[in-house]
Amino acid sequence: MAAKMTVPFYGHVRQYQDLKSELDKAWVDVMTSGQYVMGPALARFEKELAAYFGTKHAIGVGNGTDALWLSLMALGIGPGDEVITTTNTFFATAEAIWIAGARAVFVDSEPATNNIDVSKIEKAVTPKTRAIIPVHLYGQCAEMDKIAAIAKRHKLAVIEDCAQAIDAAGAGFRIGHLSDAVGTSFIIQKNLGTFGDGGAVMTNRDDVAEGIRRLRNHGSLKRSVHSYGFNSRLDDIHAAVLSVKLKRITAWSDRRREIAAQYTRALDGVRNVLKLPQELPGYRHVYHLYVVETLRGGRDAFLKFLNDEGVDAKCHYPIAIHQQEGYPWGREARIVGAVKNSEWNAANCISLPMFPELTQSEIDYTIEKTLEACRRIG
Ligand SMILES: *Cc1c(COP(=O)(O)O)cnc(C)c1O
Repeated sequence: MAAKMTVPFYGHVRQYQDLKSELDKAWVDVMTSGQYVMGPALARFEKELAAYFGTKHAIGVGNGTDALWLSLMALGIGPGDEVITTTNTFFATAEAIWIAGARAVFVDSEPATNNIDVSKIEKAVTPKTRAIIPVHLYGQCAEMDKIAAIAKRHKLAVIEDCAQAIDAAGAGFRIGHLSDAVGTSFIIQKNLGTFGDGGAVMTNRDDVAEGIRRLRNHGSLKRSVHSYGFNSRLDDIHAAVLSVKLKRITAWSDRRREIAAQYTRALDGVRNVLKLPQELPGYRHVYHLYVVETLRGGRDAFLKFLNDEGVDAKCHYPIAIHQQEGYPWGREARIVGAVKNSEWNAANCISLPMFPELTQSEIDYTIEKTLEACRRIG
């Protein structure tokens, strides 16, 4: 048995230390350039990001939530319109629909991946439905090929919530190529994160790109000329940081996948106690989160045991969207059908530490303590 140690949930400072000289140069360059907002560092990063996604456009915005509601607005979706998404996501997905003034319509997630249950989407379509927002939860793509086919049948827009899934891919499809827009987040804890907030929209549609460019900058594409808009820009200092980090994203995702494979191998013998993450055939899951689910209950005790033993496991997310009292229900949102999987997931999920800079002894210790928790509580 290993001596007690602490395993953190995030490795932000380690990542900074690894890239220190390059990052320090990047932000000093911005600082001494005299250009901090909508400057050359942003333009460079947007070009790199579009090339990376293989999309025609990438547009930096203030954060991932803005990326989603600005996309809705650029597509002309707002009051009187309905947007379908899932009850199993971070709150911001639903919030973005509410900010745009549209009505959120929720369907359940499915048990294998915890992504939107594609078989439930068509039951939620009404004459008012304008869009679907699939979420690539935990770092695994939703079934975009099936979602795109449904969208085509009903003439709906698709906006991918890729906040957790940069560098993920599906079987035979890439993010941004079966949708009208992709919103992503660069808040520090995401797989590609800056030291603060940031976000971007990727799209192949010129009209959507122009709409986002206008909306993020006070409705202005030309100095002193304005239509309506907002202030939601990605600062040059963040863009410069993200340019340094974007070059590493594939290697970081590969390392996450390698750690996930170690967890899954080691926990194979306790599948009667824990449901393990499942990667769909041919998909590239990038494990923003490695989420296990307790099959016999006892999640809170399980989590407390890990935390007491020094493993900073967490829960994503213990309260499903429709269980949030703060969400505007009634006229402004509705749920279609039972959402049993989302509720079950909220009650049983545990996220184990997962970031590329985890050391082998931290991985081994997390495995040892998780197995011990299974013996004691499972
Ligand atoms: C983080 C996240 C967002 C919001 O991103 P912010 O940059 O925090 O606004 C949206 N959707 C999902 C699924 C997320 O995980």
